[in-house]
Amino acid sequence: MEDQRKSVLSCMQPTGLMHLGNYFGAVLNWVELQKDYRCFFGVVDYHAMTMPYNIQKLRNNSWDMITDVVAVGVKPENLFIQSLIPEHAELGWIFNCFCSYGHLTRMTQFKDKSKNNEASSKEGFISAGLLDYPVLQAADILIYRANYVPVGKDQDQHLELTRSIAQRFNNTVGKEYFVLPETLHTETPKIKSTADPSRKMSKSAGEKHFIGVFSDEARIRKQIRSAVTDTGDTKPGEMSEGVENLFQLIKASGYKQNEYEQLQKDYSNGELKYSDLKDVVADAIVEMTNVFKERKKELLEDKRELKYKIKQSSEEIRKVAQETVKEVKDLVGLMNIKF
Ligand code: ADP
Repeated sequence: MEDQRKSVLSCMQPTGLMHLGNYFGAVLNWVELQKDYRCFFGVVDYHAMTMPYNIQKLRNNSWDMITDVVAVGVKPENLFIQSLIPEHAELGWIFNCFCSYGHLTRMTQFKDKSKNNEASSKEGFISAGLLDYPVLQAADILIYRANYVPVGKDQDQHLELTRSIAQRFNNTVGKEYFVLPETLHTETPKIKSTADPSRKMSKSAGEKHFIGVFSDEARIRKQIRSAVTDTGDTKPGEMSEGVENLFQLIKASGYKQNEYEQLQKDYSNGELKYSDLKDVVADAIVEMTNVFKERKKELLEDKRELKYKIKQSSEEIRKVAQETVKEVKDLVGLMNIKF
């Protein structure tokens, strides 16, 4: 029977270690979306080449990310690895010709990233891929005719570009071929660094600024125990960012919810002890991550089985991509001979 559900596409670059920010802010959403939508979740390794990267690590990072997201509940049949589906790059090329150079140079992420890159890399090398990656992103989305894309505010501009490419394409070929994808607004928490709650939890800021989902228990507890609670710049009667972040972590984990309520009451009564709050956060996160670690252990016991599943799912998902590219080539006047 044909799948009648609306489809969702979401991708993530394989950049190593999953932290609590990635999990609560993105991957948990993937797990939830699977209940109501036909999902296409991509590990986008072509995108990971746009900034200077480590060739030795890229392939392993992709597999590590697959293992991590499956361990937290993403179904292998919804997952694909981008470079196993070369049609993404093929459609990306075609879309280059439906996107203006000026539009790409105006993308704020390009401006930001190229500036960072210039500063951090010795040669100040900025790849054309960095400028062009929103076009590849448009291909990632439109190749599956995805109805929805769950994006954060920072990606709104990119979805706009995708729609503009689809529109120009439709106008040029004289057919409403591509459905214009819509943003799917989902509530995902923004997790702050426990070491500095004024900034988001992130790998790029350094070791102490993120808590790894698969870190060992002792490290997780230590990082939470040393979380910054009061930053000194909080107005009277306002909860500090650090304390708010700790409450958020308990709530998002789904564990220790009764304790959460009690701690909230303690806070309102001015009786909250930060050490108690931290203990509950640590217990909740440890309980949650222990389940994931157990699953990851099982997955690693049979790595070949997981790789086989992902190869299969990528092959299945590729059929959708191949169909789109075949139709697109017909529409734009390219050769389409089956050898
Ligand atoms: P990092 O900043 O650690 O390199 P990425 O930029 O690779 O993380 O982010 C991957 C995904 O995780 C994105 O969808 C991003 O929105 C989400 N994400 C990353 N950090 C956080 C955070 N601190 N809170 C919520 N979501 C986050």
